[in-house]
Amino acid sequence: MCVCLRRFLSSLGVVVAICAIGAEPSDDRPAPPKQVFHGEVLKTPDALKRLKVKVYPQELREQVALLTPDNEIIPILPDWRGRAFYQDERLRDRKVELIGYRRPGVPYLQVLMVYTFDKDGTRNYTDYWCDICAIPMYEIKPCDCCQQEIRLRFQPQELPAEFRPAQP
Ligand SMILES: [Zn+2]
Repeated sequence: MCVCLRRFLSSLGVVVAICAIGAEPSDDRPAPPKQVFHGEVLKTPDALKRLKVKVYPQELREQVALLTPDNEIIPILPDWRGRAFYQDERLRDRKVELIGYRRPGVPYLQVLMVYTFDKDGTRNYTDYWCDICAIPMYEIKPCDCCQQEIRLRFQPQELPAEFRPAQP
């Protein structure tokens, strides 16, 4: 190989390296469209058990997932909103509707809004609330403001208009 060609190729290599850095996956990508995900949130071993998938549960005991009516298991990302399902068993083992999205190539559901159903089938927008400061929060922790205990809040509510079935 002549020196010129080698130099040329190595300069290309630099370009490729720069492009590869530029193409690194990043959360800055625009989020995919939001959707409603239906189902029940369970500890992942329990969801697998429902589908009769054998697993050593201890390796997955911290994980939670949405089990859809189509028997799809979608793991929930423990981020600012999904984390509540890991922390709070009151949100699990019950019917839910979750507004969120999945990024291409990422199996995790990124939850943005949580609706739970009570025993009577009422849909409740679900978050946490500090009665002293009157501010919402999205995971169990002492209040961001006064450091007092916050409570799980259920507010009977329809889905946002964009997610309701079209009227005939
Ligand atoms: Zn407070």
